Amino acid sequence: MRLLKDLFENNQAWAEGVVEADPGFFDRLSKIHSPKYLWIGCADSRVPANQIVGLDPGELFVHRNVANLVVHSDLNCLSVMQFAIEVLKVEHVIVCGHYGCGGVAAALFNKELGLIENWLRYIQDVAQTHQERLDAIAVPRERCDRLCELNVIEQVRNVCRTTIVRDAWRKGQKLAVHGWVYALSDGRLRDLGMTVANADDLVVRYEAVLNKPPSEGLA
Ligand SMILES: [Zn+2]
Repeated sequence: MRLLKDLFENNQAWAEGVVEADPGFFDRLSKIHSPKYLWIGCADSRVPANQIVGLDPGELFVHRNVANLVVHSDLNCLSVMQFAIEVLKVEHVIVCGHYGCGGVAAALFNKELGLIENWLRYIQDVAQTHQERLDAIAVPRERCDRLCELNVIEQVRNVCRTTIVRDAWRKGQKLAVHGWVYALSDGRLRDLGMTVANADDLVVRYEAVLNKPPSEGLA
């Protein structure tokens, strides 16, 4: 007996639909892999990377973990970045967080969740770095959404500080790192203005984006 029968049925219907619309699709896809973008996003099931940016299979290289963190000793994330940047030669790295992130909320409000608290510790470090900014926001939900933004900004900085990105820029490789936030409430992406295209940009962008008032109309 096949388990999760409905998912296999969905898969068959999807594959047949793709072939009907484009008979050569899977043949082409199996021969080349040359995405232009690396997406580093949250594992949250409500933030499906390809779908929200309207990209087909083959167009987006994806790494997801709880709360879209880029930790300098995380070999999994670093390996994805190294392969994407050095081998696939992606031109853009997108760090995408989302408002209402459960991981960020758990970190901010000190929820007891067991092992994952160790991972969320990195977000608590971000909160500590920006404690004054966060303390100035009275409404807990808005404070949490601001931390979602600040977390993305810090993760963009972490991406830019890896040897992988620094080496790419040193060699003159075309590569930009972006910080975005997705709103579950309206399905829209917001650009946080934290786009860094070379090593000199990093400090300037970081200062500029932090001194900008928080986004209006938080989701
Ligand atoms: Zn999340």
